[in-house]
Amino acid sequence: MFRQLVLASNNPGKLREFGALFAPFDIAVLPQSAFAIPEAEEPHPTFVENALAKARHASLLTGLPALSDDSGLCVDALGGAPGVQSARYAGEPKSDERNNDKLLRELAGTTDRRAHYYCVLVLVRRPHDPQPLIAEGEWHGEILHERRGSGGFGYDPLFLVPELNLSAAELPASRKNAISHRAAAFLRLAERLRGQR
Ligand code: IMP
Repeated sequence: MFRQLVLASNNPGKLREFGALFAPFDIAVLPQSAFAIPEAEEPHPTFVENALAKARHASLLTGLPALSDDSGLCVDALGGAPGVQSARYAGEPKSDERNNDKLLRELAGTTDRRAHYYCVLVLVRRPHDPQPLIAEGEWHGEILHERRGSGGFGYDPLFLVPELNLSAAELPASRKNAISHRAAAFLRLAERLRGQR
């Protein structure tokens, strides 16, 4: 088993989360900024392709195993949109405010409000790893008619968790982090890693 990997992201929050995930496996998670890696293109129509492209890019440039994630919101009545476009649904520059406004506009008059968050994690052990470890997670809910709550980020104020009757932005961070799409993907990746030992 390897002792370190590079995280194909410059997000400090993700570095912390992934650092904690890999600590029990004695694997150090290094930020890609330590290697001056330019951002990879994310041109693909699926989350897994984009995550794979980012991980392979980081592994090629560092010679190390590499991990990446990709996530977003998929709304049933919109055929899975915003999907891989979640961060930039309302165009550049990225704006959660405008993305949420656009989502409400697109769903105006729609009674089917079902949606889910999706997260995929991809770990390549070498640039041309033929068997990357892939772990997915989903979190199902409904899109509200107006924003509720001030926590979280992205689409959380519009994402209702029906069992709790709370939006994702009304949940304490610790609660969200225990039940989210990312939490589910993390758990599965940890299982896959244990299976590798
Ligand atoms: P990334 O994969 O972290 O770049 O996230 C892509 C985009 O998906 C974010 O910019 C958000 O718009 C959306 N997204 C992903 N996960 C969440 C979440 O937990 N809450 C709210 N929005 C999310």
